[in-house]
Amino acid sequence: MINFICSSNSLNNFPITDREVVFVGRSNVGKSSLINAIYNQKLAYVGKKPGKTRMINFFDINNEYTAVDVPGYGYAQRSKNEAIEYANMMDDYFSRLDKIKLVIMIVDSRIGLTNDDLDMKEYLDERNINYLIVANKIDKLSNNQLTNNKHKLFKEFDDNIIYVSAEKKKNINQIHEYINNVIKE
Ligand code: GDP
Repeated sequence: MINFICSSNSLNNFPITDREVVFVGRSNVGKSSLINAIYNQKLAYVGKKPGKTRMINFFDINNEYTAVDVPGYGYAQRSKNEAIEYANMMDDYFSRLDKIKLVIMIVDSRIGLTNDDLDMKEYLDERNINYLIVANKIDKLSNNQLTNNKHKLFKEFDDNIIYVSAEKKKNINQIHEYINNVIKE
């Protein structure tokens, strides 16, 4: 059973949980589509106005772990106040280091890591948070292009990357396996 727990935006109202698997990514990278593909139901709202979701959503996954949907980053049209609120919420969220078992960082398989993605990666590295890169939208690439991008854009990630299509539900099982292994540890 998958259940929505709550939407939260600060340390005052985060739920009490045990183990969290967190989904992050640039706006429009397909984070909502991927969450829905992984859990096989419409948990996250696809195609929403970028940058409009300001809450962190928590879902209980079969009493095994909590899946966390964090609003997309790298949305330039945020006002200064909104950007500060967003940064504070992220800092609050990522201060709960004991709960966060894995961050799934979704990037675009056609583009590689943008500066915003690299900032996020650095943020996670500084906190020693375990992450998996998921390169989405592989249905937009030919086999040759995908092979090229693996070698050129994603070489450094080797074992810590999974190539998927949320839309075509390709390789979603590999994400399940990865999560299950982390949760078992
Ligand atoms: P989010 O802003 O990261 O939550 O992204 P969404 O899930 O809302 O997706 C943004 C856009 O990308 C939508 O138009 C989706 O239909 C599209 N999209 C998401 N995943 C894929 C994919 O694997 N392949 C393709 N071709 N399009 C995708």
